[in-house]
Amino acid sequence: LAENNARHIWHPMAHPAEMQASPPRVIMKGEGVHVTDVDGRTVLDAVGGLWNVNLGYSCDPIKQAIARQLDALPYYSGFRGTSTGPSIELAWELAQWFEPEGMTRAFFTSGGSDSVETALRLARQYWKIRGQGDRVKFLALKKGYHGTHFGGASVNGNANFRRNYEPLMPGVFHIPAPYAYRNPFDETDPERLARLCARALEDEIAFQGADTVAAFIMEPVLGAGGVVVPHPSFMTLVREICDRHDILLIADEVVTGFGRAGEWAGSRIAKVKPDMMTIAKAITSGYFPLGATLIGGRVAEVFEADRTSFGAIGHGYTYSGHPVGCAAGLAALAETRRLDLARNAAARGEELASVLEALKVKHALVGDVRYKGLMAALELVSDRTTRKAAGKAVMTAVADAAYEAGVMLRVSGSNIILSPPLVLTPKDVRTIGEALDAGLAAA
Ligand code: PMP
Repeated sequence: LAENNARHIWHPMAHPAEMQASPPRVIMKGEGVHVTDVDGRTVLDAVGGLWNVNLGYSCDPIKQAIARQLDALPYYSGFRGTSTGPSIELAWELAQWFEPEGMTRAFFTSGGSDSVETALRLARQYWKIRGQGDRVKFLALKKGYHGTHFGGASVNGNANFRRNYEPLMPGVFHIPAPYAYRNPFDETDPERLARLCARALEDEIAFQGADTVAAFIMEPVLGAGGVVVPHPSFMTLVREICDRHDILLIADEVVTGFGRAGEWAGSRIAKVKPDMMTIAKAITSGYFPLGATLIGGRVAEVFEADRTSFGAIGHGYTYSGHPVGCAAGLAALAETRRLDLARNAAARGEELASVLEALKVKHALVGDVRYKGLMAALELVSDRTTRKAAGKAVMTAVADAAYEAGVMLRVSGSNIILSPPLVLTPKDVRTIGEALDAGLAAA
């Protein structure tokens, strides 16, 4: 399997020669928070699949819901007004879940990239209906991650996900993220930094002309960019700025939705109501590919009032509202609420935070630690004074030694990223800490 993995799967981020020399793990089984590889090694999955397996790998209610739905109806399309029972029930459930954010309608997708693509299209469409078709530009954060479609790649703030694919969508502009460890303002105080970044946003809007800007998109807590945790005042300021200039605010909650950051929505940390939300990942806890773009308030009202564009809007996916995915989603959300996973994420997150702070004191390799709920990053440096990023060999050494110690970690550039299942126990937190300690000591 390892050889054929190297030979027959295109892995854009792992070269076949490297994979031959040091084969990536092949995972065959999962149970609770653990996964077992093809050699029979069982480790705690501190990556939670890919930020998504919040309920762990053996959640019976989700498995049973999927089996029941397969028996009843494996598929019907959600195109042109048709729907299935589970998709309607899940749309209702999402409106309850994100009621504080003002969301009332869902457009179902097959994942986060589709959800972002849909949000960008909706934003353009919204302004056309309102007779302001010049509002076509998008603003976003450097270090932001919004998926891999051309629209999402265009608003991505990480060069690695853009460079190969240029020219991307025109009219996209990025502002500095409130990343205290490295930023162009040399500002380390999170609240002052939030103000500076918000000012940069307003400055960019003035430069572009507000009447040319459709929307600003941001992750309430930046995930793939290395768990950058803005001070809550940042999103509040962003909301005020968007209101002042009549610009839509899209919250990309693909990672932060459903409790990962210790609240049911990332936007809820700052009590902000975005105009649209994108969700995916934990909506089914990884048991089926599913996502959604949520709208409410003025966006929903404008669409509801406009009869002329009905039937003329070409957008939809074969698997929009897949009944098996929606059945999995309903079961996953019921379990998530029953187990109060946002609360567990916040509590275990605090324990994990003190473990990470202690590792930073102990190991000179750790330049910075960042966390919110159960999303966390250790940024490794080869020199604390110059903050030079640790090299690939060091990062691999940490991850390999941690795996030997029984924990799967994710390396992203010079960050070790942690996003374990939200059903984590205090003992699991200690296991992750011990493996990180072993990994850092070995490196
Ligand atoms: N937005 C964010 C914030 C994400 O983290 C991701 C995936 N990591 C995406 C969008 C894209 O989601 P997907 O990989 O499901 O297409």
